[in-house]
Amino acid sequence: MNRPERPPAPGPLALPRPIFEEEHILFREAARRFVEAEIVPHHAAWEDAGVVPREIWLRAGEAGLLCPTVPEEWGGPGADFLCAAIAIEEVARVGASGPGFWIHSEMVAPYLTRFGSEAQKARWLPAFVRGEAIGAVAMSEPGAGSDLRGIRTRASRHGSGWRLSGQKVFISNGQLADLVVVAAQTGNGAGISLFLVPGDAPGFQRGRNLRKLGGHAQDTSELFFDEVELGPDALLGEEGGGFSMLMAGLARERLAIAVSCQAKAEAVLEISLDYAREREMFGQRLGDLQAARHRLALMQTEVLQGRAFVDSLLALHLQGALDATMAAAAKYALTEMLGRVADAGLQLHGGWGYMTEYPIARFFADARVERIAGGASEVMLDIVGKAMVGRR
Ligand SMILES: Cc1cc2nc3c(=O)[nH]c(=O)nc-3n(C[C@H](O)[C@H](O)[C@H](O)COP(=O)(O)OP(=O)(O)OC[C@H]3O[C@@H](n4cnc5c(N)ncnc54)[C@H](O)[C@@H]3O)c2cc1C
Repeated sequence: MNRPERPPAPGPLALPRPIFEEEHILFREAARRFVEAEIVPHHAAWEDAGVVPREIWLRAGEAGLLCPTVPEEWGGPGADFLCAAIAIEEVARVGASGPGFWIHSEMVAPYLTRFGSEAQKARWLPAFVRGEAIGAVAMSEPGAGSDLRGIRTRASRHGSGWRLSGQKVFISNGQLADLVVVAAQTGNGAGISLFLVPGDAPGFQRGRNLRKLGGHAQDTSELFFDEVELGPDALLGEEGGGFSMLMAGLARERLAIAVSCQAKAEAVLEISLDYAREREMFGQRLGDLQAARHRLALMQTEVLQGRAFVDSLLALHLQGALDATMAAAAKYALTEMLGRVADAGLQLHGGWGYMTEYPIARFFADARVERIAGGASEVMLDIVGKAMVGRR
């Protein structure tokens, strides 16, 4: 006799993730333990402080959460990008917007590993891995964000080295950074070059830690450079090579943003579903109301699509085949998806969703910036559209 089919256990639907192997699963377990023990209990206090303590960087370094892909010769574990994705996901899924680990590990460190001289790598990478030095990237200026051709920060040759002056804004990890990769104009029309500016360089000053709509524990700063004198070894790569170096890093950076947004959307779905199964109204649970159930199902289908997209791009990236256009498509799709899912989740929570003591309120506020930082949605669409239509 056929047994009656058991109804599926209630909960969010999840796709299998076959790209992850045993070593990744173990790394995820360790990362999750670290995040639950060392980040979650303190994050609200860090939001009040507007910054995370340096101590958490050292602990994250000890736990192997920083710079997972940095090669062993530079003090890193030399793991593949899936470990980087896991580190990003585990911080994102708890809504910990404060620790700017991914910027340090997946934006700044790769500039050094790809383009740094042996001396630059030796000076910074081991300290990055241990969390003893914190990295930031400073491209944006008050007058130059989407259009980096408007950068006015300038570096001129001075003796055997350089002298750099200008101003940057919106710089993540800006208050804590020990090393800032600064984009500056050089020479007469030579274009943009990248400079390694140590946090204690005379003439370098940090401005305000900017107050934001979300991401309250993340330090986002103005930076000022007043005739900062730098040695010849401060130039990263070739003079005038800044744009191509920035472009080279974009696919990885945008994939990292997509990975993070997907993990946040999954978390939003989970907490919204829990809420809908608990909240009583009209003599039933919120989730028993058809409109609420459909809202959850719509969130679910978006999250499943996102997961399939992100994991296939992770697989492409592992093969070295992810290009900037596909990464831009992912950045667009996943940041916009998170925006929709967070909005729907907040609506399900009613007035409680607007209270910052509820995680959904923070996910909602924190999600907003994803469609702007790292390249606005319109810029992403332009990249994708131009690749499709072709250039004249
Ligand atoms: C919290 C936060 C953290 C950040 N961290 C960093 C960091 O660490 N380092 C760093 O260098 N920068 C950082 N940024 C800056 C971020 O990358 C810029 O804000 C972003 O690139 C947009 O630039 P902008 O703010 O100057 O907006 P603008 O360039 O002035 O654009 C304004 C709006 O115009 C529209 N737009 C832009 N281009 C187009 C187009 N081609 N077609 C149609 N519409 C368009 C978009 O809607 C866009 O939002 C951060 C920003 C924030 C808010």
